[in-house]
Parts: sequence; C-alpha cells; structure tokens
Amino acid sequence: MLQPVGVGHKTLADYTHLVGRDLIEEIRELAEDLKGLKVLHLSATAFGGGVSEILYTLIPLMRDVGIEADWQVIIGREEFFNATKLMHNALQGNPLDLSPSEWRVYEDYNEMNAQQMSGDWDVCIVHDPQPLLMREHVPEKAKSWVWRCHIDLSTPHPPTIERIAPHIEGYDGSVFHLQEYVPHNLVNGNGSGPVHICPPAIDPLSPKNMALSPEDAAFVCDQFGIDVDRPLMCQVSRFDPWKDPLGVIDAYRIVNEQLPEVQLALVGSMATDDPEGWEFFNSTLEYADSDPDIKILNNLNNVGSIEVNAFQSQAEVLIQKSTREGFGLTVSEALWKARPFIGGDVGGIPLQVQDGRTGFLVSSAEECADRSLRVLQEPELGKQLGRAGKEHVRKHFLTPRLLRDWLGIFRGLRAE
Ligand code: UDP
Repeated sequence: MLQPVGVGHKTLADYTHLVGRDLIEEIRELAEDLKGLKVLHLSATAFGGGVSEILYTLIPLMRDVGIEADWQVIIGREEFFNATKLMHNALQGNPLDLSPSEWRVYEDYNEMNAQQMSGDWDVCIVHDPQPLLMREHVPEKAKSWVWRCHIDLSTPHPPTIERIAPHIEGYDGSVFHLQEYVPHNLVNGNGSGPVHICPPAIDPLSPKNMALSPEDAAFVCDQFGIDVDRPLMCQVSRFDPWKDPLGVIDAYRIVNEQLPEVQLALVGSMATDDPEGWEFFNSTLEYADSDPDIKILNNLNNVGSIEVNAFQSQAEVLIQKSTREGFGLTVSEALWKARPFIGGDVGGIPLQVQDGRTGFLVSSAEECADRSLRVLQEPELGKQLGRAGKEHVRKHFLTPRLLRDWLGIFRGLRAE
C-alpha cells in the first residue's frame, strides 16, 4: 500500500470574502456534474516544498465541492531520491544526466510503487517526475491519468528530457505552470492528451498566510533573536543552489554597508525528498561567516507555518532571488503579506511580479541590493508595491482559482 496522507477539513464558502461571490458560484456550478468523482493525487512527499503545500489545501476544497479526492505518497529510499533530485536538476537545466544505474533505480521504484497502488480511480493526478512512470505499469487503475508538472522545463538538459518526454505522452492530459515549460518534444508528439496551463496558488486562510497582527509577528520573530526594532530582509525557501541564498547574503552585505542596522533571515525547510539540502545548508552557514545579524533557520529550529508567516509579515524587504523557479509559491505568500518584494527575473516569478508595480525583478545581487535600499529608504514606495502585490495575488493566485481550473480539466476528461 502506498502511504495515504491525511488532510484537514476546509470549506469553500469561507473564501467568499477573499475571492468574491462570482468565482465561488462558478466553482459550485462546475462541480455540480462531478460529484462523487474519485480522484487520486500521487506525489513524492507530503512534507516540504510547493507540491505538498498546494495539496494540503486543494484536496480539502475538492472534497468540499463533492469530489472524492485522496492523496498518496510513493515509497522511496535514499537511492531513489538521489536519482530523482539529479533528474529534477537536469530537467531544470543542470547539464548532468542520470547514469544508467540511476535510471534503473528510478524505473524500478516506479514499477514497485505501481504494484502497491490501489485501483478504481476516475482520475489519477501524478505530480512531478518522481512517480511519472507508474501509469504505464498499471494503466487500468484509473480511467484517466493527468501529469501535473511543477518544475521549469523551459531549458532542460536534452538527454534527460528526451528520455522523460515519451512517458508524458501516454497521459490523457498534462498541466504546466507556464506555456514556456511545455517540452517541445511533447507539443509535437503523437498520442498525448491536451496540455493545460495553470499556475498554482496559495491558501489565504492557512496558518502560513492568514492575517497576523504586527505585534504577534514581532513577538514570534523576537523569539528567534531578530531585533524587531531594526529593519529585516528575509528569504523563505529550501536550501537549494537554484534559490540562491548565497546571492541573498551578497545583497545583504552590500545593503549593510549603507545601512549597518539591517538584518537578514534565511528561513528554509528541509524536504524529505531533498538529500542535497543539508550539504547546501552547511555551505550557506559557512558563507554567512558567523555574522550575528544573519539568522539561518530551518524547520528543525521549530520554524513552521506560523513562523514563516511571522517572518514574512515582519520583514521590511522580502526576497526570492532564485536563478530558476518553477513557480515560487513563496512569492505569492510574500506578496499576500503586502510587504515589498524583490524576486529573481526567472521562471514563474515574473508571472507574479510586475517589475516596479507589484514588486521588483532583479538579475544580480547588486540589483537586489539596490532595490532593497530603495524600499528601505522610501517606505511609501514599499507600501505602494506591497498593496499592489497583494491585489495581484488576490485576483490570480489564491486556491479557489486553482480549484476552478482543476474542475474544468475534470469536465474535459469526462467529455472525451
Ligand atoms: N517553506 C516552508 N518553510 C520553509 C521554507 C519553505 O514552509 O522554511 C514552504 C514555502 O512557504 C512554500 C514552499 O515551502 O510554501 C516552497 O514552495 P516553492 O514553490 O516556493 O518552492 P519549491 O520548494 O517547491 O521549489
């Protein structure tokens, strides 16, 4: 048996005041014919990273509108996650393909997990490349199969994508965040189902994103040694080279020369499917060189959702200086706190940030430092950007919109 993941209860009606009555009614109408649809989400982990973040909200809301949605996590040992992390990096452009034995590990675990899967689903949604191959071993276990890609496939390492793409083509549909992420070999391929473009979304009512008073945010940050009377720059993300925490430290150091009172917090959770995380966490610590004004925290320091919320609500500048980014849920999470935001001009970040209007887009540590100084020195500008950013997220990146998109996809599958 694959491991089932328990999710809490959520009610769509609670979101009405945040997203408006029209969207809620549209969702109810779309869901009308889908009541009782049995949907299974398959993913690699229930902890850490964007996929699990989305599913903890999306699945309860699917259930609330009558879909029988479940979530199961595949089983994998270190050798499997080492191979899939390599694959993840190669698919996002790192020029290193898996070795033949790593490919074999990947294939074997997919076959083994497929044998463990229970049957009789209307739709099975397979998230990301880790469980991608399961479908071909047990196609009969679901009437339709959809592959949901959460990563940036715009410039993949050719040998890796060439080996992966044929497996996508067997699906009844695939879903990408952006048109640019759809592999060319897939668009021209035969036998693949429709390609849907639909970016992810955040839950405005979760502990991570719910409204937190400035006093509560300050109280929580104070517990982690932040001086809440001095300005704070902050990045929340896994410890991963693509997230560029070292570049954030560089930017902080430049800002620090002009504003010595500034502090930096790098807040990063460690995902169970990310063996590289610890190594990179340690190099980040080393790079910070024991600067007492740089706080490097992770979930093992008790940084959970409320703490992430508090850091994002407290910081004067929120950063996501990625050099590759599938979508970057942390971007919408940051913007939702109405704080000034600065992000790398890559992947899904420009979709969420209009440069100069809802935040700033940057391509270097120097640019990041320059924009940070601007918002620190012109608080009015920061407020304006923050307000516009929050409205942009309200319109486009809250979970009810994502739920509506999925219901549309389910109806399309039914109609086929
Ligand atoms: N996250 C967290 N604690 C941390 C670091 C990250 O809860 O210390 C969450 C973050 O708030 C976001 C998710 O992990 O919801 C990361 O998703 P994103 O799309 O930004 O990046 P990914 O990790 O999937 O590449």
